[in-house]
Amino acid sequence: MEEIKKPKKPLIYYYCIVLVLLLLFNFIFIPYVVRKQIKQVDYGTFMSMIEEEKVGRVEIQNNQILFTDKDSSVIYKTGLVYDPTLTERLYHSGAVFSGEIIEETSPFLNILLYWILPIAIFVGVGQLMYKKLLQRASGGGDFMSFGMGKSNARVYVKSSDGIKFCDVAGEDEAKENLTEIVDYLHNPEKYREIGASMPKGILLVGPPGTGKTMLAKAVAGEANVPFFSMSGSEFVEMFVGMGASKVRDLFKQAKEKAPCIVFIDEIDAIGKKRDGQLGGNDEREQTLNQLLTEMDGFEENTGVIILAATNRPESLDPALTRPGRFDRRVPVELPDLKGREEILKVHARKIKVADNVDFSQTARMASGASGAELANIINEAALRAVRDGRNFATQADLEESIEVVIAGYQKKNAILTDTEKRIVAYHEIGHALVAAKQNNSAPVQKITIVPRTSGALGYTMQVEEGNHYLMSKEEIENKIATYTGGRAAEEIVFGSVTTGASNDIEQATKLARAMITRYGMSNDFDMVAMEVVNNQYLGGDTSLACSAKTQALVDEQVVALVKKQHEKATAILMENREKLDELSMFLYEKETITGEEFMDILDK
Ligand code: ADP
Repeated sequence: MEEIKKPKKPLIYYYCIVLVLLLLFNFIFIPYVVRKQIKQVDYGTFMSMIEEEKVGRVEIQNNQILFTDKDSSVIYKTGLVYDPTLTERLYHSGAVFSGEIIEETSPFLNILLYWILPIAIFVGVGQLMYKKLLQRASGGGDFMSFGMGKSNARVYVKSSDGIKFCDVAGEDEAKENLTEIVDYLHNPEKYREIGASMPKGILLVGPPGTGKTMLAKAVAGEANVPFFSMSGSEFVEMFVGMGASKVRDLFKQAKEKAPCIVFIDEIDAIGKKRDGQLGGNDEREQTLNQLLTEMDGFEENTGVIILAATNRPESLDPALTRPGRFDRRVPVELPDLKGREEILKVHARKIKVADNVDFSQTARMASGASGAELANIINEAALRAVRDGRNFATQADLEESIEVVIAGYQKKNAILTDTEKRIVAYHEIGHALVAAKQNNSAPVQKITIVPRTSGALGYTMQVEEGNHYLMSKEEIENKIATYTGGRAAEEIVFGSVTTGASNDIEQATKLARAMITRYGMSNDFDMVAMEVVNNQYLGGDTSLACSAKTQALVDEQVVALVKKQHEKATAILMENREKLDELSMFLYEKETITGEEFMDILDK
């Protein structure tokens, strides 16, 4: 799709042009015109013109004499020479003594130069600036914004490289849902005949980078209709009422271009619940009201379909999500294993890859990655290939780029001391060994102790064998034990602890807390929720929903749970102390080992 957009110049640009014009006008143009009218002559010519009685008017100044011809209006100028009889001779020759010889010579030119032209310039520039300001008022949210708002929705027109459904991999349910919309836009009669009406608005909800914007564009691309795209935050202006008029304008444009698709990204920026809090945002509320009115206002089946995307559906105003407005909700979730593989393949079409690349393995390694991250992984792999002077990417490039996306680049100049390296090696093998010894934990793919730019000194990459939609209590407990395995190894081997386990502690606590407060996996609280998730798609923050007394109990249980798993991990490592040493030394020497090498030593 091509975006049609006019570049905007900053206001200071116009101020500068005006200033330069005025300077040119005053210092070059006016003196030039004036000077051009005056003809310099010598004193002899002046004297002979007096004798021939040709001098018309004359003005004797301090350092020069200006005079005119009797027959023409040419102005002459000559120097001042000591000449006591000059006045007398001039008088006899019939010359007229005048005080304002230049001004009087061309009154019309003077008026034009000194009055009309400057005023014309100012009026012209004023008009230009006024227009510019109006444009800004509609578009930029500039400090000086005022006047009527005009939406600056970008219109995408169809072009040969328009995004189609085949470019969006995975997300089959969402695509199926939206295919109906495309069909409607192609063939509205079919729906009208039976009396069915299309939903006016469709809300795409899901975590960032899962392809919501792409899906909306693909609908427009498939249906071959204009696509208006605007972000929710673009509606919110400094002055109350501006956003509302932008909404009006957007819908006006859309109705003119129907059938078409209007896409509002990040709709939560305007669609937040109107909660009547003190100091509420009037501008946002007015904009939302206008949006609600507009959505009610247009008739069904006009051919305008509104798609909106958000990753905070719970914060939307209920009035916006009721039937008749955004009445359909299409979840666009993180891709599953198959989805990840397809997304990798779609993006790999854009780069050259070796024949032996195993996308399914790569997809398995990148568990939990969003579409945008997978696109990034492919691009990183291509960049790595270029860096190595190859013209195709290999499996190793893909695997390394997963690590880059997860943990950052390798820190080339981070030098660990020998003891630190040993500690990190034991820590990582601790995780891996605990994971491997508990049957339900996913197998280890790779262990490394090369420091990364994210701050990780090493990590153990686990790979899910298949899709997991449910997790049992035991599985979560094992996961917690795996997190504690690193610290347990340090304790066993070195008898002391380091700061290296901070991230593990965080993760283990999070899981243990969720088990008790949300999954009903504690013995005491049965199926009562102690916490609620605030924004499911953005990090999943939680807030407590219980009394302070219960909260203390929850804390106690979380500690007990983690402690139990920590003990379990310590027991596993103690039992396998020899393997722990052997594997850690192997890792210490090689710095990076694969899952197979690990399993070989373990099973020996
Ligand atoms: P969102 O709007 O959900 O935040 P986008 O649609 O802007 O995400 O996606 C960002 C980028 O991620 C896209 O340009 C595309 O390259 C990639 N991407 C995301 N999801 C997919 C997918 N399902 N298939 C192919 N590419 C995807």
